[in-house]
Amino acid sequence: MANQNNNKKTLDAVTPKSEDISRWYTDVVLKAKMADYSPVKGCMVIRPYGYALWENIQQILDKEFKRLGHVNAYFPLFIPESFLLKEAEHVEGFAPEVAWVTKGGNDDLEEKLAIRPTSEAIIGHMYSKWVESYRDLPIKINQWANVVRWEKVTRPFLRTTEFLWQEGHTAHRTHEEAKEEVMQMLQVYRDFVENDLAIPLVTGEKSQKEKFAGALNTYTIEALMPDGQALQSGTSHDLGQNFSKAFDINFLDSDGQRKFAWTTSWGISTRIIGAVIMAHGDDKGLRLPPRVAPTQAVVIPIVYKDSTAVNDKAKELTTRLSKIGIRVQLDDREGFKPGWKYSEYEMMGVPLRVEIGQKDLDKGQVCLVRRDTSEKMFIADSEFEATVEKLMQEIQETLFKQAKEILENKTLRASSFEEFVSIIKEKRCMADLVWCGSAECENKFKAEAGATIRCFNENAVDGNCVCCNNPGKHRVFVARSY
Ligand SMILES: [Zn+2]
Repeated sequence: MANQNNNKKTLDAVTPKSEDISRWYTDVVLKAKMADYSPVKGCMVIRPYGYALWENIQQILDKEFKRLGHVNAYFPLFIPESFLLKEAEHVEGFAPEVAWVTKGGNDDLEEKLAIRPTSEAIIGHMYSKWVESYRDLPIKINQWANVVRWEKVTRPFLRTTEFLWQEGHTAHRTHEEAKEEVMQMLQVYRDFVENDLAIPLVTGEKSQKEKFAGALNTYTIEALMPDGQALQSGTSHDLGQNFSKAFDINFLDSDGQRKFAWTTSWGISTRIIGAVIMAHGDDKGLRLPPRVAPTQAVVIPIVYKDSTAVNDKAKELTTRLSKIGIRVQLDDREGFKPGWKYSEYEMMGVPLRVEIGQKDLDKGQVCLVRRDTSEKMFIADSEFEATVEKLMQEIQETLFKQAKEILENKTLRASSFEEFVSIIKEKRCMADLVWCGSAECENKFKAEAGATIRCFNENAVDGNCVCCNNPGKHRVFVARSY
């Protein structure tokens, strides 16, 4: 990857994560060249390094979607206003953040057009044209696209006015089948985020207040950041027949009856990159999980005088890693000191650094440095490939383990309302508590502690509501959130 930074610029330290996680986050996003601010307020530029990470995320998910029978398509960016108005809850939920196009060139449009905040409306309209009989179902289409939601407060990746995502939209013959799809896609997200991004999650159903506007039920994957705030990382919605009724997606069933289809939608966005940065990064910068890291290993020759033999060896090591499928980069640029290069790749979170100097050559060894633990090791040249492969696995596991400790240590049981408030406001953690199911108590979580129900906890209800002491209906995770 081309590197235009001069020495001085990058060696400035980032704000320590423990001191101010918010400033640390911004420093790392900018210095690791993941993204940059754009001239348009609330929008970011995803730089090549950040985009390469997104492409790796896309590839893994896209393959899995297709394996499960989904196909990709593309729908228009613009949605006529009348379409959005058809599903009452949907329009009410999204109205405050829709961007509108009212002019084409110099002419006022007859009907204003929304820039899609999500595509249920336009896709629902198209499905109504495509579905005639039960034989046309299910339809399982995914779209990779950008969407716009006019946000007031924005932060790179975590909340931006325009962002990239995938949105899956399916239509089914029965509710059972649709519900299976919803849970299946939730599981796909969970496996991906935990196994590939090394971020442990809590997952489950959203409360009615927090569900997607227009859905019957929403299921979510929630990650807990080191500052105790939850980050909604992906959602899967059971839309029931709400959209099929609004957009007239009906079909002739085998019993001769006309019926409305059951639809679902599910999405994951560039926001997940914010989760990766925040969950794993440290004071030296990013720490990327090997499975999605754009560069998994960097080879740096340590060159003093006669450099030919060392440079040749560095090239050879690079080729050897490339041959076993490691995404490897050789940095043999002159004019940059090895120490400067080390900090640069640490900032960018490259999981493994390979150093090779004359002394190593003489001893037939290679030096490896792990980004996750900073552990430095010397291994025999003959064990190079096998060791690197093993380390990729170990680094992936270590990152997950460390993040899992945070999730476990920062999820605390609350048995009273005072305890709940203290968990959120003083301990800065996520609370696991019993709730009666009422909107009054849910509103109190927000009013008294700025926290929301992130999702239901499947564990058994074992007491009364911490808020009103009425019989408990759900165990829930409650936290402040990004
Ligand atoms: Zn209550």
